[in-house]
Amino acid sequence: MNKNFGLLVNGKWLKNKKTIDIFNPFDGKKISEVSSADSNQIKDSIKFAHSAFQSWSKTSAKFRSEILKKLFKLTIESKDSLSEIITLESGKPLEESKAEVEYGASFIEWAAEQALRSEGKLLESPENNKKMFYIKRPVGVVVAITPWNFPLAMVTRKVSAALAAGCTVILKPSELTPLTALKFGELAVKAGLPNGVLNIINGNPKLIGELLTKNSLVKKITFTGSTKIGKLLMKDSSSTVKNISLELGGNAPFVVFADADISNAIEGFIAAKFRNAGQTCISANRLFVEEKIFDKFLKKLVVRIKKLKIGNGFEKSDVGPLISEKAIKKIKNHIDDALSKGGEILIGGKKSKIGKLFFEPTIVTNINKSMKIFSNENFGPIIPVIKFKSDDELIQLANDTNYGLAAYFYTKKASRVWKIIENLEYGMLGINSGKISSYLNPFGGLKESGVGREGSIQCLEPFLETKFVSWSYDD
Ligand code: NAP
Repeated sequence: MNKNFGLLVNGKWLKNKKTIDIFNPFDGKKISEVSSADSNQIKDSIKFAHSAFQSWSKTSAKFRSEILKKLFKLTIESKDSLSEIITLESGKPLEESKAEVEYGASFIEWAAEQALRSEGKLLESPENNKKMFYIKRPVGVVVAITPWNFPLAMVTRKVSAALAAGCTVILKPSELTPLTALKFGELAVKAGLPNGVLNIINGNPKLIGELLTKNSLVKKITFTGSTKIGKLLMKDSSSTVKNISLELGGNAPFVVFADADISNAIEGFIAAKFRNAGQTCISANRLFVEEKIFDKFLKKLVVRIKKLKIGNGFEKSDVGPLISEKAIKKIKNHIDDALSKGGEILIGGKKSKIGKLFFEPTIVTNINKSMKIFSNENFGPIIPVIKFKSDDELIQLANDTNYGLAAYFYTKKASRVWKIIENLEYGMLGINSGKISSYLNPFGGLKESGVGREGSIQCLEPFLETKFVSWSYDD
């Protein structure tokens, strides 16, 4: 692993004395260090991104698409090294890291294709000698702030769409997992991205956030992370009225109706809960099971959970470590809070002996709505399970949260499906499936889970402005 990985500003790799240490969550050992940007370097990144925008925004969509296609190819060719870096710095099982590289690369390929399809529109003018139309223009310098839980895919979903639209980017990855983003930066330079079009800054998040959100040359903030920081960025961006997209936290209900295929529901739940040790924004966060099958379902689920292998991501495990001590403390706090209010542990409930950052897959029963485990995102391998009797009760319980990102439900009854789709207040639904992520998915949430959508056929939209023209002329 490279020592003192630098910052990418205007096509140059800068190295500073001040660094941030990067640790392997599996054993807590230091794996590398990256340069921490100072205020001047952060300001320079804005200046260079602004200057590069003047030419990049004028390149043809075809030109941008070709560079992105090269970047896609390089990303796929680097699958082994990228997935090793992801597992090393995030702890997730290597198979999941490989899947993330493919998922992350799919956004680059998709954006390369969508770049060619951006279009304006000629409108039917109500007056003679007048043309009315609108065109699409890139918004300008984009700041992309990304989390540690998908160190590649959250970067590519934003950056490739912004570049395809003709924007330039300043990327601030999480200080917990910057190595993947820096490797991605190397590939972007190799793919032929001109200087200043993609800049990567690591360092003090508060300082970086303040300098970037308050600068009027930055036109767009695209953020994926916690609702708390999303609200702060929204507030700080208001002084310059920036265009802002927010992909924030979730509190996903996973619902099993009595008529569901139970084996299918269990496998879907395992994927939706334990992928990345429960550290995904669309992780199942509350399990609702219909009364008639409650005991039978839980019995089978416990048998399945006991088969999960907890361990080092490099050794064929199913559940890796959590990212930090803070994350362990949070889920411990959720468990203690639930137990103090009458909750009972069905399986797990404590730290695993495997290592400091491991927690046993846990089911908590006897849940009530005053518990933190019901209302807060836990971001770990723990789940409260709640019994329900009717569709209406389920809808009310599932919607009883400030979040609205993803929801899952399992049923074979077609007449129920539409009612649930219409009434669940969530941006994305999985029906008889625990996997919903795809480049085709307009990814995003309702309520405090965010503003806007990423990916999908609309992936360029967040990075484009609409310019309307009304043109009168003589005969
Ligand atoms: P976070 O603490 O909000 O951090 C996200 C990013 O914001 C990181 O790069 C972080 O930098 C940076 N940051 C922290 N404080 C900042 C500040 N004052 N100004 C500017 N940037 C700042 O979230 P996280 O713990 O990394 O990620 C987990 C959260 O992300 C969960 O809530 C999860 O649901 C959400 N998430 C949502 C989606 C989605 O698509 N909706 C996808 C993935 C994750 P440092 O890491 O360097 O502190």
